[in-house]
Amino acid sequence: MSNHAELMVIGAGPGGYACAFRAADLGRKVVMVDPRATLGGVCLNEGCIPSKALLHAAQVIRETHEMTDDWGIGFAKPKIDLDKLRSKKDGIVGTLTGGLTGLAKRRKVQTVRGTATFKDAKTVTIDGEDWTFDQVVIAVGSAPVQLPGWPQDDRVWDSTAALELREIPKALTIVGGGIIGLEMATIYSALGAKVTVVELADQIAPGADAEAVAILHAALSAQDVTIHTETKVSAVNADKKAITLTCEGAFSGDLSANAVIQSVGRRSNGPKVTPENAGIAIDDRGIIAVDASCRTNVENIFAIGDVTGNPMLAHRATHQGHVAAEVASGHAAALDTDLIPSVAYTNPELAWVGLTQAQAKADGIKHKTASFPWAASGRNLASGGGDGLTKLVYCPDTERVLGATIIGANAGELLAECTLAIEMGATLSDIALSVHAHPTVSETIGFTAERALGTLTDL
Ligand code: FAD
Repeated sequence: MSNHAELMVIGAGPGGYACAFRAADLGRKVVMVDPRATLGGVCLNEGCIPSKALLHAAQVIRETHEMTDDWGIGFAKPKIDLDKLRSKKDGIVGTLTGGLTGLAKRRKVQTVRGTATFKDAKTVTIDGEDWTFDQVVIAVGSAPVQLPGWPQDDRVWDSTAALELREIPKALTIVGGGIIGLEMATIYSALGAKVTVVELADQIAPGADAEAVAILHAALSAQDVTIHTETKVSAVNADKKAITLTCEGAFSGDLSANAVIQSVGRRSNGPKVTPENAGIAIDDRGIIAVDASCRTNVENIFAIGDVTGNPMLAHRATHQGHVAAEVASGHAAALDTDLIPSVAYTNPELAWVGLTQAQAKADGIKHKTASFPWAASGRNLASGGGDGLTKLVYCPDTERVLGATIIGANAGELLAECTLAIEMGATLSDIALSVHAHPTVSETIGFTAERALGTLTDL
């Protein structure tokens, strides 16, 4: 048969390409399918990477303000050349997606451009052509949730449209104060938009530690971002002049803006591959259930990444991709951890892993917490950093660390020490007795462990 794949991977995002490359490295003949012109999925093309490029620009703009206002080093008001900024971002994306094409070629992974749907448990149709397969990995990711009943209007953006950087609206309303919404607020407010965030929950970054979130809330407010929590959008009206949202709840009234970003979560693309034709179990949210080995209920069919549910994050997709490739190739492998770090690349960054204090309490897990304020970190102050916090959740009986939250500059990078500590079953003493270089903000992790042990001398 002409169209046959030994191992087919549907979707070339961070889950799909990691899976395809790992399987090829294990000696498998792999076909990877995706309708996009470039590899890399949402993460590289319209997610993690373009957002971080623009967040870097936002950070530099803020630093020039701080230098001018506080450090006596004057910078003129930044002139923003939107075309150049957009092409810089696109260039970074292009370098990375082009690199993936090279990596696929080097591994002899065959890439097929097209959209795959299941015909049965041994066949998919790719743009009208049938392909049979021995095994398949579904890695089709997710798409932004569109709020029902909203007008079709060029001024209503999802995260993809927002990252296209079409314009800098004078006033911008962001519906949804989760990680993506807050990153968009950070970007557009630095670029000069007057940003308002509307969030249904009682805090932004729902699920993150409340004490750390309060610091982020205050920092964003100081950056002139208006935040309305416990507020629901009850009506939308688009006219020539503006998009107007009618709000109810803690804030009640109308918000008019030149553009609105809908950022209320992402929905699995699972239903789009017609999994029912292959007998694959899928729930009413479009999530394909998998076990720790990324197996679905159908023996030769695996699923990885956003299509398998929360947390919808690139590093989870990548790890699952490796697991699926190994299991499909006859090796024993599993993603046997709940430790998937979360990072909001806001200014300051908010990062957490493992149990939060609220989660530990809700789950009835015996715990204590200790924290260290970044106001007492020499490196933070010397670097112009503002408020920040390092907080550990630990078991008082065993001293084992159960969770960590960090808010401050580069918190996402710092969190890696905590992830490793928890993964390795480290105790407070392991962390406190590890010598952290001075002056670094990584010291705050050691100081927090010392504080819990009663040996801290830096406060
Ligand atoms: P995806 O990256 O969604 O890729 C799926 C691929 O499948 C796509 O290329 C799609 O074209 C293809 N596909 C879909 N249907 C079919 C079909 N029927 N046939 C063939 N191919 C198909 N995560 C982080 O970890 N860190 C971040 O900083 C971060 N920032 C983000 C910022 C934004 C603005 C957004 C939107 C997301 C961000 N994410 C971040 C989330 C991250 O992008 C996703 O979790 C990740 O891309 C999921 O990887 P995946 O492989 O499951 O699927």
